[in-house]
Amino acid sequence: MASGDREIQRAAHRRGPTVRRVSSGSNAREAAAVVDAVVVGAGFGGLYALHKFREQGLSVRVFEAAPDVGGTWYYNRYPGARCDVESVDYCYSFSDDLQQRWTWSEKYATQREILAYINWVADELDLRRDITFDTRVTGAALDESTLRWTVRTDTGEVIDARFVVMATGPLSAAMTPDFPGLDTFGGQIYHTAHWPHDDVDFTGKRVAVIGTGSSGIQSIPIIAEQAEHLYVFQRTPNYSVPAGNRPLSSDEVADIKANYAERRHMSWRSGGGSPHVAHPKLTMEATPEERRAAFEKRWELGGVLFSKTFSDQMISLEANEEARKFYEEKIRAVIDDPDVAELLIPTDHPIGTKRICTDTNYFQTFNRADVTLVSVRETPIQSIDRTGISTSEKHYYIDALVLATGFDALTGTLAKVDITGREGQKLVDDWSAGPRTYLGLGTDGFPNLFLVSGPGAPAVLANMVLHAEAHVNWIAEAIAYLDDRGYAAIEPTAEAVENWIAECAQRAEATLFTQANSWYMGANVPGKPRQFMLFIGGFGTYLDICNEVAAAGYKGFELLKVP
Ligand code: FAD
Ligand code: NAP
Repeated sequence: MASGDREIQRAAHRRGPTVRRVSSGSNAREAAAVVDAVVVGAGFGGLYALHKFREQGLSVRVFEAAPDVGGTWYYNRYPGARCDVESVDYCYSFSDDLQQRWTWSEKYATQREILAYINWVADELDLRRDITFDTRVTGAALDESTLRWTVRTDTGEVIDARFVVMATGPLSAAMTPDFPGLDTFGGQIYHTAHWPHDDVDFTGKRVAVIGTGSSGIQSIPIIAEQAEHLYVFQRTPNYSVPAGNRPLSSDEVADIKANYAERRHMSWRSGGGSPHVAHPKLTMEATPEERRAAFEKRWELGGVLFSKTFSDQMISLEANEEARKFYEEKIRAVIDDPDVAELLIPTDHPIGTKRICTDTNYFQTFNRADVTLVSVRETPIQSIDRTGISTSEKHYYIDALVLATGFDALTGTLAKVDITGREGQKLVDDWSAGPRTYLGLGTDGFPNLFLVSGPGAPAVLANMVLHAEAHVNWIAEAIAYLDDRGYAAIEPTAEAVENWIAECAQRAEATLFTQANSWYMGANVPGKPRQFMLFIGGFGTYLDICNEVAAAGYKGFELLKVP
């Protein structure tokens, strides 16, 4: 179909003028702006969706709860915040012009540099004019007679859209545990995921950090440098591999830019969206010398990819144990006090089954006299009062409290939006036993509602920038397919959803991942259903499946005309 014909086709799906009356939950009639697509969120995912859909000739409105673009990188401004995928890979690949013109200064960019990059892209592509900031989408309701959505915001806007794309982020609902007395604390409380914009100075202060996941582990060494005394409240120790961060030389940058196409190609085909391949042998097939050399090489690469040194490391406990022993040796070597080392070395889950943290001098920080590690496992936090934190053992007097307590991941943000599909079905009810999706892209009963980097996809197991691009590209192609053939909507079948959940579960159970109480499993949120929420089969494999589904005329989806 020629693009002009497609535009006519699309116009046929638009019902009425650009402002029309719609029925609301009550009997009120309200004016609604009409667009082809509402995109929720202006992080990496939502921004690319806006650009891509616009290029395709769609009218798009983006709503963003924050005052500006960036998503994760707008909010998570805590000291030490950086990416753990190399900067040169953790950026958009869709435009060679953009990737050639932007120059990363370090191997792992700071939050500040990533946010500057996102702002630069937003300006280069003139994205802001279609983004409404400081506006939260509160609900989206399907009109089954038109197969269109009525989207509502907390500022009272009502939008009539054919497509709704939830680019709301897998890690955007910060979690604050219900510590008794937290609200009575007399000092300042900071959450890593809602860090103030002004610099926070802990000089001369007694500071407590609760939480030792990636956010805690990145911030603790820097807070320790400032604070008069730092108390780290650790419930579960985590595996963390040094980042080996460093400035990128101009020669390195030039070399990467000259070979970006190849680098990206390897990333698209890889297990995790980065251009690094596992050792060709299985762990126990390698000689002890080869094994050690491979682990050393990955240790030098730094961070999270240590879990992918050998391809069987996350499947075989014996293989995993080899990696774990190597890890333990490295970590014990940098911690002075063996009792402290004992507390800092995980024993409750195989290495890599929770995301491996990426740090700079994290373990060395506990060699400082002004840093105290408190094991909340041994002496639980009982309450917080005006002056500090009481554990079962003693009271810690503090001036400031940092919560690095993570997120209600993958489903938490979506659950805050009142999404109503066919026959009044609520998405939260549909997912009450755990998220149900087909390919992580959508679910039955909710036609034309798409998810970006949500549950059922590799999402956070991959380089999330490429992952967002892949999802948006797939959605854009699906929309073009509908328009070319005169369909109004696309909706997964219930059978495809059930089969996909079963496949995700089966693949997860064949790995070691289900052995950890991770946020991938929903285990960090009290009462959340325990289900491995991601597709574990690898990024490249996942993309092949999505492409095969599309090539087969959207197998597992129903293509719908307006009834
Ligand atoms: P987000 O960036 O989370 O953006 C979602 C946006 O949607 C937010 O701005 C939010 O305000 C908005 N929103 C949500 N609900 C609504 C609503 N109802 N109405 C309006 N707006 C709404 N991944 C990697 O691959 N590599 C890394 O190195 C890496 N580092 C990370 C570091 C930190 C500290 C964190 C927290 C996560 C990190 N991640 C990393 C994961 C990261 O979340 C993704 O890489 C990526 O930034 C997600 O982009 P997104 O657009 O999907 O979501
Ligand atoms: P997280 O990994 O979930 O860590 C939260 C920490 O808070 C855990 O140590 C947890 O202990 C602790 N905690 C939660 N509730 C507690 C309670 N009631 N009492 C005591 N401790 C409690 O969250 P995160 O560190 O923010 O990281 C989440 C994800 O974001 C990462 O896995 C990663 O994907 C991404 N991220 C990436 C980077 C990066 O390096 N680029 C940085 C930050 C975040 P338990 O383990 O016992 O639950």
